[in-house]
Amino acid sequence: MTSRNRRIPSATRVVLTASASALLAACATSAPMDKPAEPAQVKPAAEAPAAPSARPTYGSFGVDTAGMDTSVAPGDSFFRFVNGTWLEKTEIPADRSSYGMFTKLAEEASRRTRELIENAASANAPEGSEVRKLGDVFASFMDEAAIEAKGLAPLKPELDRIVVINTRKELAAALGETLRTDVDALNTGDVTTSRLFGLWVTEDLNEPSRYAAYLLQGGLGLPDRDYYLVDNARFTEVRQKYQQHIAAMLTLAGIPDAEAKAKRIFELERNIARVHWTQVDTQDVTKVNNPWPRNELAKRAPGLDWEAYLGAAGLGQQREFIIWQPSALTGISKLVGSEPVQTWKDYLTFHSIARAAPFLPKAFVDESFAFHGRVLSGTKQQRERWKRGVDVTGEAMGEAIGKLYVEKYFPPEAKAEADKMVRNIVAALGQRIDTLAWMSPETKARAKEKLGTLQVGIGHPEKWRDYSGLEVVRGDAYGNAQRAWRFEYQRNLNKLGKPVDRSEWFMVPQLVNALNSPQQNSIIFPAAILQPPFFDPNADPAVNYGGIGSVIGHEIVHSFDDVGAQFDARGKLANWWTKEDAEKFKAAGQELAAQYSAYRPLPDLAINGELTLGENIADIAGVAIALDGYRLSLGGKPAPVLDNFSGEQRFFLGFGQVWRNKYREPTLRRILLTDGHSPSEYRASTVRNIDAWYQAFGATPGQTLYLAPEQRVRIW
Ligand SMILES: [Zn+2]
Repeated sequence: MTSRNRRIPSATRVVLTASASALLAACATSAPMDKPAEPAQVKPAAEAPAAPSARPTYGSFGVDTAGMDTSVAPGDSFFRFVNGTWLEKTEIPADRSSYGMFTKLAEEASRRTRELIENAASANAPEGSEVRKLGDVFASFMDEAAIEAKGLAPLKPELDRIVVINTRKELAAALGETLRTDVDALNTGDVTTSRLFGLWVTEDLNEPSRYAAYLLQGGLGLPDRDYYLVDNARFTEVRQKYQQHIAAMLTLAGIPDAEAKAKRIFELERNIARVHWTQVDTQDVTKVNNPWPRNELAKRAPGLDWEAYLGAAGLGQQREFIIWQPSALTGISKLVGSEPVQTWKDYLTFHSIARAAPFLPKAFVDESFAFHGRVLSGTKQQRERWKRGVDVTGEAMGEAIGKLYVEKYFPPEAKAEADKMVRNIVAALGQRIDTLAWMSPETKARAKEKLGTLQVGIGHPEKWRDYSGLEVVRGDAYGNAQRAWRFEYQRNLNKLGKPVDRSEWFMVPQLVNALNSPQQNSIIFPAAILQPPFFDPNADPAVNYGGIGSVIGHEIVHSFDDVGAQFDARGKLANWWTKEDAEKFKAAGQELAAQYSAYRPLPDLAINGELTLGENIADIAGVAIALDGYRLSLGGKPAPVLDNFSGEQRFFLGFGQVWRNKYREPTLRRILLTDGHSPSEYRASTVRNIDAWYQAFGATPGQTLYLAPEQRVRIW
């Protein structure tokens, strides 16, 4: 759902999406594997849920039963059964591209964050202190009159530097100056950037005790290559509107001949799109591990003056890069050498304006929203300025806010309770591995070893980032953003050559999301997701296990999904599977991919079962181990019946409830094409693979979700 996006909300990412291993954004599954042994104390619910009138509303045991629609049979649509009335009654707020439990909590986190920042701003904190900087970043962004008065001036020096480019060498240096660490392929799944390439500094796939510099494809203003290349009415319209948007932005900035330039810029991007990898290939870790010595870049990827590019990017000393998508890198380099320098200058000009737009006068902000908000996402209305200000401040100094957030909103009891749940769910996966009939003892031993080294972060990082080197100037909104981008970039460059910090967090505490880092073999649950409806330390454990427990299970299983399973206990990309086990695992994945590819959220667009495989494996096995964890938590005692619901019914209701969500059509379309996560409804539908769900709700042959026992996909 919301995303884990740590980048500054540039125009293109005003609407955040998630992917890769983050909870909101993309796995494979099982061949007909044997069903894991059910713990002995499982007791199917005695009866189906009672009539709605007999039910309490949210709060009495943690499920909003008033939001259910019990006229729908759970076996036909569990999503509607749990959420039907809520879906009926809820309208997506005008300033949102989608709305659900994640966004609801995100809105709450925004309000809290605003208060924390405003308190910081009014505290008259000493010059140079973190609190003072937070207040100043926010206040500078909020001062619209000052921003209006300055007009284009804050961007002018950047545009002037582009004007004087004459040679390809100067062009390469200018492109290098724009490089930032705005991608993260495996933790947050952020794989797009409008800059020529994206740099990612993290553990080396081949040796996790050292950092590597990864280069990823970039350069597009639209979300994915398909937007440029696929011929259908929707994309033809988007392409037209994108060209108009480019022209409008250039015109606003007083650039002459805007329409002709817009056409050439678009054509250049379309050529870049042609060499781009697909999302599925980008997520295939068997294809992306390509270490290239620096001194071979010029030979293997001619066209771009690499010395000039890397020198300007501050990477003059870096001797090796891992090239994520080699043919895209060579294709893009070639275009730098072949397309007219003037076209590239126009391209750089447009993207500079586009990235600066949120910090410029209203005309730029509105034009940016008109395209990215309305056209690309279907959002009707721009978010209030203070909400954008909170985002901007969070992008600049996320952990400084996180520190304040945790002090105020994350009690130690929540951490203690969540810790206990994690232990039960990890133990449950361990027991499942022991009893998997399809897996050999060798592979089991390696899987257990990996589970044993899993690192768990709950609420917040152990140590906080130091922002003392970040310069903030009150009244300089765009300058603050640029310095924050550069500061984050430099923080990452500084990691190169140093020992790996295994405790680094890739999400801030105030974000409603969660993630798994395959290279750290770690899972992270920010404080902001540890709230109702996901988690309430005082609520019914069944609902907590169904909600946050399934999220915890999901993240643990990412260490064992189609991607995660290719990393060993140290976080190295290394095979630890016997050949036969790997084949069975792969076959199961294909089966799950087929199950998901059969879903059609839009009449002309199905889910991409391959793209979403990792996420779907994490969902299916995540629920299964969360349920086991719940059973373990009962310590052999029967679960109480509350308001006529059995413990396991409440567990599944708690699970179904967190996926309550609605999308606008353009956003749903974008998610289907670019996001590793399936839309919410289909995430909730994964229960159809779980035997206990049939026992709890009585789904029968002939109902939409019903799968015969041998058709249910079982992976872990
Ligand atoms: Zn995930």
